[in-house]
Amino acid sequence: MISVEQAQAIALECARRLDEEQVDLADCFGRVLSRDVVADMDVAPFDNTAMDGFAVVSSDLAGASEREPVTLRVLAEEGAGSSYSGTVVPGTTVRIMTGAPIPAGADAVVKFEQVEGGESAGQDAVFSAPVKPGANIRRAGEEFRRGDVVLRSCERVNAYAMGMLASAGAVRVSVFRRPRVGVFSIGSELVSPAQTPAAGKIRNSNTACLAGLATDALCEPRVYPIVPDDRGAIASQLRRALDECDAVVTAGGASKGDFDYINGVIAELGEVKFDYISLRPGKRQTLGVVGGKPVWGLSGNPAAAAVGFELLVRPVLRAMQGMAPLPRPVVRARLATDVKKKETRRYYERGLVERAQDGSWVATEFRGQSSALLGALQRCNCLIILPDDSLGMKAGDEVDCMRIDIPEGTQA
Ligand code: AMP
Ligand code: MG
Repeated sequence: MISVEQAQAIALECARRLDEEQVDLADCFGRVLSRDVVADMDVAPFDNTAMDGFAVVSSDLAGASEREPVTLRVLAEEGAGSSYSGTVVPGTTVRIMTGAPIPAGADAVVKFEQVEGGESAGQDAVFSAPVKPGANIRRAGEEFRRGDVVLRSCERVNAYAMGMLASAGAVRVSVFRRPRVGVFSIGSELVSPAQTPAAGKIRNSNTACLAGLATDALCEPRVYPIVPDDRGAIASQLRRALDECDAVVTAGGASKGDFDYINGVIAELGEVKFDYISLRPGKRQTLGVVGGKPVWGLSGNPAAAAVGFELLVRPVLRAMQGMAPLPRPVVRARLATDVKKKETRRYYERGLVERAQDGSWVATEFRGQSSALLGALQRCNCLIILPDDSLGMKAGDEVDCMRIDIPEGTQA
């Protein structure tokens, strides 16, 4: 029996980063960059106005006041997208809209609200206060300059990054390939969700859940049919999934029961790295490598399979697509109630961690911690970690709570 941390370290060693591919800017949301992105020009490309207002020579307004206003002649009016070809000389101004280039000669912008008149070219605009040089001007290159690294290799592309890529002219983007993850369930009792189970049978919930978890890990799940507890059938479907996918996740038939075959099949095709972990739910979780590809034989109990995925599969799938090995945010919290713990194994209890009135964190364990039940996982925001060696904990004891509702590398 190995610890969760040992299992995670072994699992990460099995993660091989996939090769890169090029995708269109429009398709790169959620992808991980495989190369630095370098700006091909300054953004903004030119000095421009941050306000609708008047471009002025600031020294013209040095003595302007309510009692002694200064009058400037409006030379022209320019909207965003067009630029004034002349020069603003002392005594003149150009009426310009947000985003329009600052005309030659001008060194400040006074917003409309502070000016009287000057509605169009040829009219006078009246200024009753001075303006500082540079006021209301957005400078060229303020976002980034030509040659700057705008985004770094291994960064995940979020919506803001997509905007930055667009500004940088990166219409084709180099990203790591998304892992294609084969998913299937093993068990002679399983029927498809579309069926009403006959006596002794149950609906297959693991495939749907695990495919969802693979999608959440930004992978492409590929779902395979249910396989009965039949060694030959398991081996042939696993071989096919390995041919077609970068990684394979199975659930069920991973224990020591009379009809549990996945470990033996993985061992026959490749190498089993671990199959017994100090973990509840799900001490029987197998990881093997076949032909350089990771294969998991997760416990069939739905909560055990899901927690196994979170702890042992997700970090590997992240690494395969180039993401840094960052942990989920962990919050140190006080237990709201006593919690039972019967064995010296690491427990991951499903629950809620919230801020109390005084700002401290409080963790509440949900009912329904059986590894057969998914409801608590569906409602929880964290896994409450009960240390391996403890045997029960008291209300008020401090525990680590792993937030599974927010991404790795962020702050809770
Ligand atoms: P196993 O890991 O095959 O020993 O299965 C453990 C428990 O999980 C048994 O009660 C199974 O019936 C149940 N189980 C296994 N696979 C699934 C599945 N795909 N969906 C729902 N329950 C399952
Ligand atoms: Mg079974």
